[in-house]
Amino acid sequence: MARHTGPVCRLCRREGQKLFLKGQKCYTDKCPVDRRAYPPGQHGPAQARRRKQSDYAVQLREKQKVKRIYGMHEKQFRNLFESAAKTDGITGENLLIALESRLDNVIFRMGFAVSRAAARQLIRHRHVEVNGRVTDVPSVQVTPGDEIAVKASSKDILPVQASLEARTRPSLQEWLALDEKARVGRMVRRPTRDDIPLAVQEQLIVELYSK
Ligand code: SF4
Repeated sequence: MARHTGPVCRLCRREGQKLFLKGQKCYTDKCPVDRRAYPPGQHGPAQARRRKQSDYAVQLREKQKVKRIYGMHEKQFRNLFESAAKTDGITGENLLIALESRLDNVIFRMGFAVSRAAARQLIRHRHVEVNGRVTDVPSVQVTPGDEIAVKASSKDILPVQASLEARTRPSLQEWLALDEKARVGRMVRRPTRDDIPLAVQEQLIVELYSK
């Protein structure tokens, strides 16, 4: 399945909750989830009235929700799941930790971009360095000790500046360190499940993919 290129607010409405895909705009009173609390499309209101979902539907929605939060293709997501399943520990937690350790997410968490989509654009446009080398691959796994920086010539570009100054910017997480002025950050340690502020039931994704 290809990446969604239409209006992202439809994705939140489909999942019935705010996924915060548009950065600061999500914090205004114009959020469509608040104004139209039913799935998009002609049959959206009828779907909202339906009482019971099958187990499969619940698992599928949870997977779609996480995939959409991190802006991933199905194939990429599935590959990450397969590698999480082969790693020691709890598969669902391994999956979320791998998602959090993606370079685009780390850039977003450091505050260099207002959303993961904006972070991906920053990386694709070659404004980001990992350990002193420019990279244009948003899916790179960041590991403890890695230094992530906005490259010198891009330090004061508007998207970075605006993101760092945003009122709605979340506080920096404990597993990351940041020198905001120098636009340089570091992963101090791998995140744990407790560090990931997502209200998702990752076990449902494991159940879905284990069928
Ligand atoms: Fe989702 Fe943000 Fe759009 Fe609201 S404004 S529906 S949270 S992307």
